[in-house]
Amino acid sequence: MDEKLQDIYDEVLERNPDEDVFHQAVSEVLGSLGPVVAKHPQYTDAAIIRRMCEPERQVIFRVPWIDDDGRVQVNRGFRVGFNSALGPYKGGLRFHPSVYLGTVKFLGFEQIFKNSLTGLPIGGGKGGSDFDPKGRSDAEVMRFCQAFMTELYRHIGEHTDVPAGDIGVGQREIGYLFGQYKKITNRFEAGTLTGKGLSWGGSRVRTEATGYGLAFFAQRVLEASNEGLDGKRVVVSGSGNVAIHAIEKVHQLGGTVVGCSDSGGYVVDEAGIDLELLKQVKLVDRGRMSDYADQRGSKVHHSDQGSVWEVACDIALPCATQNEVDADEAKALIDNGCQLVAEGANMPLTPAAVDAFAEAKVAYAPGKAANAGGVATSALEMQQNASRDTWTFEHTEQRLEEIMGNIHDRCLETAEEYGSPGDYVAGANIAGFIQVADAMLAQGVI
Ligand code: NDP
Repeated sequence: MDEKLQDIYDEVLERNPDEDVFHQAVSEVLGSLGPVVAKHPQYTDAAIIRRMCEPERQVIFRVPWIDDDGRVQVNRGFRVGFNSALGPYKGGLRFHPSVYLGTVKFLGFEQIFKNSLTGLPIGGGKGGSDFDPKGRSDAEVMRFCQAFMTELYRHIGEHTDVPAGDIGVGQREIGYLFGQYKKITNRFEAGTLTGKGLSWGGSRVRTEATGYGLAFFAQRVLEASNEGLDGKRVVVSGSGNVAIHAIEKVHQLGGTVVGCSDSGGYVVDEAGIDLELLKQVKLVDRGRMSDYADQRGSKVHHSDQGSVWEVACDIALPCATQNEVDADEAKALIDNGCQLVAEGANMPLTPAAVDAFAEAKVAYAPGKAANAGGVATSALEMQQNASRDTWTFEHTEQRLEEIMGNIHDRCLETAEEYGSPGDYVAGANIAGFIQVADAMLAQGVI
């Protein structure tokens, strides 16, 4: 790493102890910026990178709520507004027991560059709670969401900070959050939350957008070497919002997804994942992959040992969570002939896995480019809310596909310009960075 950047990184380590995933996200971006600081000293002179590594604001709050047995439960809520140079903070809320400040800061930091890459006017932020919705009744989830919003509402707004979903936060949770926001503020301010239901301000394609966008991006990467998803054998991790819609679009583009997973194990379905059954099990019944295997019958193998990355494939789409692919799993994928890894999840590869794929010359599309379709479509939802309009599915999907194509091309052009042809990581980090850095320079020291 460049010496000036190393100093900044050391300062990040010192000022943010015990936040490993945040350190990892910063290290990955700074690792790409050497050629940028060499060419543009104004960014280091104005402490742009140091400022970018420090969130503009961080809120941590108590979330007390009452469970179905009448007991008081206490969770912790977070919202980090990382950077508003390009627009209001924008980024999802994650409800998962593993969430702590470091998780929210890593995700918020990534979001700055991802949102910049979309070319749309959105800054970077993220939030969440250590609340675990798994096994909770609808009424408990509602009471938790209401308690969470009772504090969060004062920090957000359509021109300030616009949350959406992430792990554990889907349309049900967004509904309860929006309802409470509307009640407390006495305003139907649709542009304050995205991922809403279609009848109350949501955008068509928002639910599908991250997974669809990922498949569009993978298709563009393959097209760069005159190939496509058609006929390809694909493995996806996770079976949530991103995974399900990635599977759907891969199938529409002619590929076959032969494996997917959840935190309880994975299935191998050689005939191709039965999407209708998967949606029923995961989205309607809120069941497990083992339930999918039971209902699909003897054709399908379910395992609660090992990992989905042991399944041979041409293309791997990690769509579950951070650091879910380690060096051994990367090696298994490489040995089995995997030619492309495109990230639906945020930072799903450990640094050692990234190195292993680079060494083996496996194409690699980082999440901040490949999964930007979700936040891009959230920005399209904000556009529709601002103009009190609703777009058709076809129009919205076409906009999503164009945006993913533009991100892809911008990554390649920028990588070429800064001396790393074909390197999507360098392209995404540098292109995302420069737009935010120029806006920060123009707006002065704030
Ligand atoms: P969901 O909650 O809908 O699904 C998450 C899936 O990942 C579930 O199948 C879950 O299994 C699995 N999973 C979560 N944590 C773990 C873990 N520790 N180990 C193994 N499996 C795990 O979330 P999303 O689909 O929305 O998000 C998935 C990823 O995509 C996240 O990294 C998120 O940040 C990223 N992302 C999401 C966007 C969106 O629009 N939703 C936008 C851009 C990125 P189980 O049910 O067993 O926990």
